[in-house]
Amino acid sequence: MRRKTRTIKLGNLLIGGNNPIWVQSMIKCYSEDVESVTKEIKRLKRAGCEIVRIAIPTDEAAELIPLYKKECGEKIPLVADIHFSYKLALKSIEKGADGIRINPGNINNKSWIREIIKTASIYHTCIRIGINAGSLEKRILAKYGGPTPEALAESALYWTSFFLDEGFDNIKMSIKASDVDTTVRAYRIYAEKTDIPLHIGITEAGFDTYGIIKSSIGIGLLLYEGIGDTVRVSLSEPSNREVEVCYEILQALGIRKTFPEIISCPTCGRKKIDVIKLARTVKKNLKQFRKYLKIAIMGCEVNGPGEAKEADYGIAGGKTSSLIFSKGKILKKVPNEKAIDELIKTIKEVEQWEE
Ligand code: SF4
Repeated sequence: MRRKTRTIKLGNLLIGGNNPIWVQSMIKCYSEDVESVTKEIKRLKRAGCEIVRIAIPTDEAAELIPLYKKECGEKIPLVADIHFSYKLALKSIEKGADGIRINPGNINNKSWIREIIKTASIYHTCIRIGINAGSLEKRILAKYGGPTPEALAESALYWTSFFLDEGFDNIKMSIKASDVDTTVRAYRIYAEKTDIPLHIGITEAGFDTYGIIKSSIGIGLLLYEGIGDTVRVSLSEPSNREVEVCYEILQALGIRKTFPEIISCPTCGRKKIDVIKLARTVKKNLKQFRKYLKIAIMGCEVNGPGEAKEADYGIAGGKTSSLIFSKGKILKKVPNEKAIDELIKTIKEVEQWEE
């Protein structure tokens, strides 16, 4: 069951409570490069990104916030990512960022943090507090002997109380370490003690299959335990890929079903059709289709007809011809070489979908 959290507001988006678990990514090109950032925001929007974060390392970047906000549109909040400089935090808020993300560990001066809180209150800006294993307070590191889960959680709880004591509660927390075990345990400790919404992810997860596996295990464990209100998969890959993987994790857990799910058999010596090629072709053709459908592609008669019948659409391969099913009914029997075209045509017709 999902952890009960309070609802906070980031731009026009409500986070926490019963709201969906929103998908976030971060701009990867240089923040001052208007053309590239604009293109990346467009790509993220096409991929379904729901919160866009951008690094604000310079005054020049902060000046561009209104322009980037316009590109994001009304529905997608823009979050300014700030390190070290409270002045850039203040400027980003004043320039209209919907949210800022700060790491108190590297701003390291309570009066500056109070100033950020004061300005954020005036502008109704959301603040994400980022606790990172790499920048924990010295006193906490000394107490625990290193960035343990307990140390991370203590820092997160300390800063939560600090913000709440200052009368500011439009906050979200993230607690990051680059290993799954530390991250998951730290989030668990924190989640038990507060109702503050959580942004989750495994930081610096890497790339390719390993990066995705590491993120999926960490994020998956937390989501399965009901922890997490916004999510980002941090990969050394294009930002739109992060968004795709986020949705895949949410869908695999049955939390948000947003795109066609292909149930395909692993194939074996009994296969009558080329399942691997067919499954990939279907996925490619339905890449922009934004509705949950269960599509079964099964290689033979062993599990084929059964699985295909359960699905919204399906193919069960036969020796020379395949059966195309929809919601339990056989729609067509087609020669194997035409099976995939017919399946895609059928889905497009029935679902009235045009690219
Ligand atoms: S459905 Fe048929 S081809 Fe596919 S793995 Fe099972 S037995 Fe093999």
